[in-house]
Amino acid sequence: MNPSIASCEQLLSAMVGIDTVNGNISGKPNAEQELAQYLKSQAQAWGLATTSLPVADHGFNLLVSCRVGGAAAPWLLFESHMDTVGAKGMTIEPFTGRVNNGRMYGRGACDTKSSGAAMLWALRQYAQSNNQPNNVAIVFTLDEEISKIGARTFVDTHLDSLDWRPAGVIVGEPTMMQPIIAHNGMVRWTIQTQGRAAHSCDPAKGRSAISMMAKVMDAIESNYIASLKATHPLTGKAQCSINVIHGGMQVNVIPDDCRIHLDRRVVPCEDAEQVLPAVEQVLEQLRQTQRHLKVQQLDTYIDPPHDPVGSEMLAQFVEDVLKTMKLPCQAGGVAYGTDASTFSTAGVPAVVIGPGDIAQAHTVDEWLALDQLQLAVEVYGKMMSQPATF
Ligand SMILES: [Zn+2]
Repeated sequence: MNPSIASCEQLLSAMVGIDTVNGNISGKPNAEQELAQYLKSQAQAWGLATTSLPVADHGFNLLVSCRVGGAAAPWLLFESHMDTVGAKGMTIEPFTGRVNNGRMYGRGACDTKSSGAAMLWALRQYAQSNNQPNNVAIVFTLDEEISKIGARTFVDTHLDSLDWRPAGVIVGEPTMMQPIIAHNGMVRWTIQTQGRAAHSCDPAKGRSAISMMAKVMDAIESNYIASLKATHPLTGKAQCSINVIHGGMQVNVIPDDCRIHLDRRVVPCEDAEQVLPAVEQVLEQLRQTQRHLKVQQLDTYIDPPHDPVGSEMLAQFVEDVLKTMKLPCQAGGVAYGTDASTFSTAGVPAVVIGPGDIAQAHTVDEWLALDQLQLAVEVYGKMMSQPATF
């Protein structure tokens, strides 16, 4: 039996009290399930409909909905991820949701259980109101911090299983309740060189994968990274860096394997799928001059950028709501990634807006200013009660 929840602050405290450190970090399987179950029973106790949407090997995304009837009513979707980054090294108790001086402390208090709590609290109030122009749903997704598998499965599989399609999705992340309409994406991958091992007393018998990699890195830095020019007015410049290197076995063996790990930040209007082909051209040029070079690219992870194109009407809707409430409504962009790009790439308009400051996300003393939580309940509630006719 859940203890009774009398305020959004209590709801957030209960959510922070459930450890949902991402399973890729904690090693715990189905890391978000205890929270998903908790939200499910809480939503049901408030008369909201719930659907568990399974995600292979991960548990389930939780859909909470309020169907107001009337086939013409549009669907407005809200989204908040349930997982958090790790709690190691935190200087506060990570899972108590303690309140001090108008702030709630704990892992996820800011990123992004505050969004989820405010969305659910606003939906609870909306379901009881007599002004219901929209059908409204919230999807609580899993694993945003590492692989985005929750949001990906939702757009790839779950959306098609529903008998409705959202007019747009409001993605909850810490933005101080300012609308974010664009963000960068990223591509992460590995480049491997392969040599031939030999005893170091006769290096000529081997081929050093490390020496090959030195040439590869020089070529990438001079002929690829230095030539990156793409910029976006809201999210800045395209970036690429080589950030991890592994190579060699022991000091008396010519190394036969070397790997580097790269991180490329992709701005909206760039195609993330074109990153590796462009680097391949640089490698191919190098192969022409280095007869023994054996190099390949592997283990690619792509998280696309969020392009504002396609979400203009939703952005206008959000701006109008903020204007009506006499709140700042200047739309902006950020360099970090969110689930919004997963939705927008699948053709679902998306805008990111949520309580708290990204400066407090992922920190050793993560906290949320509670006035932001209250503001989020009001703003999300206003969105729910404005006809989403776009
Ligand atoms: Zn987040």
